[in-house]
Amino acid sequence: MRKPNKDELVFLPLGGSNEIGMNVNLYHYNGKWIIIDLGAGFADNKFPGVDMLAPDLSFVYENIKDFVGIVLTHGHEDHIGACGYLFDQLQLPMYATPFTAEIIKNKLDQVKAKDRAKINVVQPGSRFKVGDFDLQMIHITHSIPEMNGIMLRTPVGNVFHTGDWKFDPHPVVLPTSDFDALEAIGKEGVLAMVCDSTNVFNDRYSGSEGDLLPHLTKLISEQRGKVYVTTFASNVARIDTICRAAMANKRKVALTGLSLHKITDFAKNTGYLKDIDPFISDKEVDNYPRDRVLVICTGCQGEERAALQKIVRGDHPTLKITPKDTVIFSSKIIPGNEKKLNKVFNDFVHLKCEVFTEKTSTVHVSGHPSSAELSKMYELVKPQIAIPVHGEAMHIHAHCKLAKKVGVPQQIEIQNGNMVRLNGEPGIIGQAKFGYLGVDGYMLQPENGAVMSVRRKLRESGAIVVSIVLDKNSVLQCAPNIRCPGVIDEQENPAFVTYIEEEIADLMEHQKKQGNDEIIKKIRKKVKMLIEHELGKIPVVEILISRLN
Ligand SMILES: [Zn+2]
Ligand SMILES: [Zn+2]
Repeated sequence: MRKPNKDELVFLPLGGSNEIGMNVNLYHYNGKWIIIDLGAGFADNKFPGVDMLAPDLSFVYENIKDFVGIVLTHGHEDHIGACGYLFDQLQLPMYATPFTAEIIKNKLDQVKAKDRAKINVVQPGSRFKVGDFDLQMIHITHSIPEMNGIMLRTPVGNVFHTGDWKFDPHPVVLPTSDFDALEAIGKEGVLAMVCDSTNVFNDRYSGSEGDLLPHLTKLISEQRGKVYVTTFASNVARIDTICRAAMANKRKVALTGLSLHKITDFAKNTGYLKDIDPFISDKEVDNYPRDRVLVICTGCQGEERAALQKIVRGDHPTLKITPKDTVIFSSKIIPGNEKKLNKVFNDFVHLKCEVFTEKTSTVHVSGHPSSAELSKMYELVKPQIAIPVHGEAMHIHAHCKLAKKVGVPQQIEIQNGNMVRLNGEPGIIGQAKFGYLGVDGYMLQPENGAVMSVRRKLRESGAIVVSIVLDKNSVLQCAPNIRCPGVIDEQENPAFVTYIEEEIADLMEHQKKQGNDEIIKKIRKKVKMLIEHELGKIPVVEILISRLN
């Protein structure tokens, strides 16, 4: 892979292009690199026992002396989620607006790095330098406060990196998008725009946060029992809307779920969620009539450990569901989570609750731009090159076609790892390594590393562990012992266990004077063959040899 020349302005996504999630965007100019966003992703079944993914930043570590900092567009997990996990490896200064900085500090606190990290708090709309990069934050509305697109100026061309956005005329807790700034950069000249593709297949405006209030107020007014509403904790505007709808119906509001408590604290500390009634504690909910309370809960994606799932299972410490209560899912049903969520919806219906979701009622608006909003953005910013990101291949492909249709002279369809030259002759000039690391407790595990590979095999077919004790001539000193976790029930099949142990003892009759490696190889082969013959599967086989002097 060739390194970019000093005068090349290069864009390199290491995550978020060909997927919705885990955004990591690198820009190069004059021998230096800057990172915009450092997100986490949700793990799939290639990572058993793992919930979150962090990006593989081998490319960054190899060139770390040329990296000048990390700029964060907004506080969503898919944009800042890896700041904590990867802090120690990177140790780069970070730049974020006040609300985003609060969320990052919390992440750093969790990995005990808060005091060592350098977070530069910049204001929405401000212009500042990171190394040679001249940056300007431009506020655009989204489903979290303080989303900022980033205008990156260099002597060879300007890039506008939009981040996640929509044009919301009534965004509730924040001013509307900074159209003046967008128009101004369009006039100044934008070489390339790197832009959100999530909702390219929707052709109507995504809808306004402010327009939800009358819908939610009316829906809540029609309910007679307790009302539970779940949404993403980071959607501060939605929490504000839900609180106002509750106040209009004379309902007190309680919160349940750690991330809701944290985010509402950060929001209040940075000047949001003003003018709403104080929350009551979830312990106080039963002190009020059922039609005078509303509970905001975590768990809108069916997460196993979230408050809403504890409520539906009946193991929440304070909140009990009763027939005729109402549950409102004020959130998107994220593709991939449908099965999990349908089960939760059905479980609530079995408990005789009313359930409302984005499929049945107006209880949610998206935070991403439809094709109508994308067209408006292209009209304002007028880039020479469109580079769609934040989408799967289908989204990116459709977004390129849209950009062409609205008159953008050039579109570049990219994937993670593509090194894209923007100035001179624009196009893909190379390929960098990218990938995923499973966040496994305090460790980061590569997809095809020893730990995840064995764990996948264990999940599929269990393990046989063989323990033998030998003297220095490799003569057995006692009967072999086996354990069969995940293969058979040893209590119910003692004869099978004895049979395998005896077969190993027979094999050892012919291994006198053999070394450990040879013995391990032979036992493994024999046990695999026996298990395949008897049970029709091949488990992981581990052999422990103890030697007596
Ligand atoms: Zn995003
Ligand atoms: Zn976002």
